[in-house]
Amino acid sequence: MVGQVPVGGDAPITVQSMTVTKTADHEATLQQIYALAAAGADIVRCTCNEPEAAEGLARIVPRSPVPIVADIHHQYRRALDALEAGVHCLRLNPGNIRNPQHIRLVAREAKDRGVPIRIGVNGGSLHPDLYAKYGGRVTPEAMVESALQEIEFFDEVDFDLIKISVKASSVPLMIDAYRQLADVTDHPLHLGVTEAGPPPVGTLKATAGMATLLAEGIGDTIRYSLTADPVEEARAGRQLLEIMGLRERRNVDLIACPSCGRAEIDVVGVAHDAMEAFAEREIPLQIAVMGCVVNGPGEARDADLGIAAGNKRGHLFVRGQNVAVVPEDEMVDTLVEWAEYIQENGPEAALVRASSTKDAARKAAEEDRQRNLGERGDDANNSEAVIAGIRRASEGG
Ligand code: SF4
Repeated sequence: MVGQVPVGGDAPITVQSMTVTKTADHEATLQQIYALAAAGADIVRCTCNEPEAAEGLARIVPRSPVPIVADIHHQYRRALDALEAGVHCLRLNPGNIRNPQHIRLVAREAKDRGVPIRIGVNGGSLHPDLYAKYGGRVTPEAMVESALQEIEFFDEVDFDLIKISVKASSVPLMIDAYRQLADVTDHPLHLGVTEAGPPPVGTLKATAGMATLLAEGIGDTIRYSLTADPVEEARAGRQLLEIMGLRERRNVDLIACPSCGRAEIDVVGVAHDAMEAFAEREIPLQIAVMGCVVNGPGEARDADLGIAAGNKRGHLFVRGQNVAVVPEDEMVDTLVEWAEYIQENGPEAALVRASSTKDAARKAAEEDRQRNLGERGDDANNSEAVIAGIRRASEGG
């Protein structure tokens, strides 16, 4: 348990993030913690790097909406201060708190208070002896050994409220390290690609590493380490778990076609507007934005609600059935209105609501479908004409 949040075993996988404010500035830090919690963070970490930070934690912990982890590097005394401040968990880096006496002292104190500790191994700050042992390189074996050494110190004082992370900025390296770690320990694992960098590449890196492991059943709690507003980290973490079916959907799952020569609207623009319109609404439905009525409703038939463009109008469908026709510039507003209706009353009620308009809507969609097919034919991207052009050019050359 990290505060009231279970981590490990059958507990839902949790999302973590870290504040970037000075912890001593408890008001600013609390504001950020609230923003992170609203974006999907279940647990938030704050640095405890100076006595003033520990004092900040003493004020933050009782007012925080989520459990607080104190991040400790180099100074074991800050760990003791953070425990005194009432934090729900500590993160220790075995690479830079190396004195066994200090480690045992912190573990004993944490044990007395029932506070868990994350052993946070980081590929960038391994113990120098481990670097040397593994040929001056960071290897998965060195990272796992670092974690196991720390567990031994904890064992000596009979402390086992442990989570472990073996983060690296290299995705293949962290994947290997976590796989090896999962083979040798049953302790809950905290996943992350450290120093992943700014989005979108940083988000991709972190997703590649964490999703690979989660799909193998490895990992109990995750953190995106992005060079960005931490709210983006929390949001990304939450979204990853929802996408992988590991947490219940809280927000819209927007699906949109990639567009093609048949598209009758600016699909990218409309999908973007829809994304924005739903961003602050907690509507856990799958909603589709499709560029044309030729394939759209069929391809998105499993969506709860969708809209497909045709002849300057939007064809609204619920579970693949046409229910209404709206002007193009009302497409997004209509989606929002119907999404709210479905959320409140369910899709069956939405179909009943549309009983007087369904037939006309189906007919209009079919007309626009035929019109699009007639205008653009089966080869909407004109590939035959393009190929003929290429052939002519190459024969000419
Ligand atoms: S056929 Fe229609 S729905 Fe499919 S990608 Fe093209 S525009 Fe989008």
